Amino acid sequence: MNPDGAPVTQADTNDIIDLFVIGGGINGCGIARDAAGRGLRVELAEMNDLASETSSASTKLFHGGLRYLEYWELRLVREALVERETLLRAMPHISWPMRFVLPYHQDMRFESNTPTSKLLNALMPWMKGRRPAWLIRFGLFLYDTLGGRKILPPTRSIDLRHGPEGAPLKGHFTKAYEYSDCWVEDSRLVALNARDAAARGARITTRTKVTMAQVVDGLWHVTLQDQYSGARRTVRARFLVNAGGPWVENIIRNTIGLDTKEGVRLVRGSHIITRKLYDHDKCYFFQGQDGRIIFTIPYETDFTLIGTTDVDHKDLEEKPVCQSEEQDYLLQFASTYLKAPVTAEDVVATYSGVRPLYNDAASSATAATRDYVLKLDNSAGAPLLNVFGGKITTYRKLAEQALQQISEHAPQMGQAWTAGVALPGGDFPVDGVDEIIRQLITKFPFLTAPWARRLVKAYGNEAFDVLGAAQLASDLGEDFGASLTAREVTWLMDKEFAQTAEDVVWRRSKLGLRLSPAQIERLQTWMQQQLTAARTGQAWAAIQ
Ligand SMILES: Cc1cc2nc3c(=O)[nH]c(=O)nc-3n(C[C@H](O)[C@H](O)[C@H](O)COP(=O)(O)OP(=O)(O)OC[C@H]3O[C@@H](n4cnc5c(N)ncnc54)[C@H](O)[C@@H]3O)c2cc1C
Repeated sequence: MNPDGAPVTQADTNDIIDLFVIGGGINGCGIARDAAGRGLRVELAEMNDLASETSSASTKLFHGGLRYLEYWELRLVREALVERETLLRAMPHISWPMRFVLPYHQDMRFESNTPTSKLLNALMPWMKGRRPAWLIRFGLFLYDTLGGRKILPPTRSIDLRHGPEGAPLKGHFTKAYEYSDCWVEDSRLVALNARDAAARGARITTRTKVTMAQVVDGLWHVTLQDQYSGARRTVRARFLVNAGGPWVENIIRNTIGLDTKEGVRLVRGSHIITRKLYDHDKCYFFQGQDGRIIFTIPYETDFTLIGTTDVDHKDLEEKPVCQSEEQDYLLQFASTYLKAPVTAEDVVATYSGVRPLYNDAASSATAATRDYVLKLDNSAGAPLLNVFGGKITTYRKLAEQALQQISEHAPQMGQAWTAGVALPGGDFPVDGVDEIIRQLITKFPFLTAPWARRLVKAYGNEAFDVLGAAQLASDLGEDFGASLTAREVTWLMDKEFAQTAEDVVWRRSKLGLRLSPAQIERLQTWMQQQLTAARTGQAWAAIQ
């Protein structure tokens, strides 16, 4: 029996798996994929949907983190810069290069407590938090060269008085630098890692919470609870990975019952999505009066994404939402640069996430390290690996290092393998999207160009399988609006673990920006009917 008296079902009682992963964010799914590909028997449990927490609320950049150079976080920046191109090659459908325009103005202020600030204050006290242009250029030179860039174009200086980049900006911004980073569809990245893990033999269970994990006779006994039915089962595993993101410390203390000196600092970051604010396809990197930075990013063709804030988030159980002060802050910040002020009327949606930063007792939310920390703990009598912090950009490296630590306990497992292997749908050249779109339209002439582009940017060369044998649009079943059809939703339910309309319209896609509440409700009803039919006599019933 569990502590609350509910009966526990011993599923797969004779089976002992190698690795159990708590948490279906990018770190948990990345570790599960890597481990399954090395031949380990793996199960992962996610208490909500995949990527339902931090991993769908990021700024969606594979980036080195230009501003971390101010903190001299050279290892983190270098690793992330190198990784950008490795990731881009593995998923050219959901990731693509982007150019960032950094307008330079002599009055820009930078954070005062970074190592760079302290050094400059000592050497050039008259600068009072400002940065000379040569220093920004030097930082960008480092950013260009530290990571051995091969695909992405280098930094250049631009004259904002001419050309499209200066057009949306106020007239006193005359000079800028332009550098490269990459975009990534964060929540699709998680779903594709989970899918690939499953294809390599991992069991991925969503809407399933780990309520308890204890060591009995040298094995982890992990108790899982289905969040729909309340049914419980236990899994026995040799190794436990805690990739609970913001919950990592809570899991150590309350789910596993261990004491810990390690912790996370919860820092909320919010974004606003506005109507499209300018016509070109580049992003802006704006440096604020308070030393912080924000990005404005062309988003989903018709919108602009602006973020982010950095606010300590006190209560883990309080769902992060963009507070009105955060929205005002972002609007004002962007309006100090943009000619046409951005107002609340321009905002069409907001989202917010909690960064689970390793608690290194840094003085401010902005200054807390973005690096990841892996801590192996054998104190319970079986190995437990706790994952603190990290970035979307470093998830694959983090997984490799996690597996390195696990290898001591699983000497039979294979070597690192993920660096050159594409994610599902991504096995084509980095500049091959347009060619696949062309082929897709040739095979399915009923597609419009934006529809084909959307499918290829989501499913890559698997877009052909998503559409199957359809000859007419009507062969794809019910049309839920914005080119979303029953056939595509079925794919998402069968292959990508989607169960609700929210999973489909906000995480597997961003069609929530285009569908009406009534259309989303209709989608929910349809999906519910499919699930009810599929669940009858299957799934959980089978293990009771
Ligand atoms: C505003 C913001 C912007 C960011 N921008 C970027 C960026 O541009 N580039 C970048 O590289 N990084 C960025 N990051 C960082 C990045 O998003 C995070 O580091 C990363 O998503 C963390 O992933 P995770 O898997 O550790 O956590 P999560 O995604 O939160 O996953 C943890 C999962 O564990 C589950 N869980 C918890 N407890 C249990 C339990 N008991 N049982 C089962 N499941 C459980 C949760 O439901 C959750 O889904 C950003 C972060 C924020 C907040």
